Amino acid sequence: MSHDKISRRSLLQGALIGLAAAPASALLARDAFAADLPLIDPADAQAKALGYVHDATKVDAKANPNYKAGQLCANCIQYTGKEGAAEGGCNIFPGKGVKATGWCKVYVIKPGATLG
Ligand code: SF4
Repeated sequence: MSHDKISRRSLLQGALIGLAAAPASALLARDAFAADLPLIDPADAQAKALGYVHDATKVDAKANPNYKAGQLCANCIQYTGKEGAAEGGCNIFPGKGVKATGWCKVYVIKPGATLG
C-alpha cells in the first residue's frame, strides 16, 4: 500500500520535473541553432508588414510613431539570440534570424532591459 503511494508520488514528481525541464531544453536547443538561422529578408512579406529593418537607426519614425531610439531586437522580449551576438532568433519570425540591431513594429522591451 505505502509502496503504491511512493510510486505514485515518484511518478508525479518525475512528470513535474520533466514538464519543467522541457521548455528550458527547448529554449536551449533553439538558442544553439539560432546562429545557423538564415537572416530574414526585410523585403519578405511578413517582415515588410511588421516594418522590420536590420538597422533600427533607419526606422521611419513618421511611419512608426511608437519607435524610440535605443529599441533594438537585442533588447526585445521576442529575441532569442545570445547576449552580444550579432544575430539571433525571434519568436515572431520562426525559422529566421534577425539582426541584434534590428527592429519591427511588435517590439516590446525585455523585462529588466534598458534601451541601448
Ligand atoms: S519582435 Fe522584437 S526581436 Fe523580433 S524582429 Fe521585432 S523587434 Fe526584433
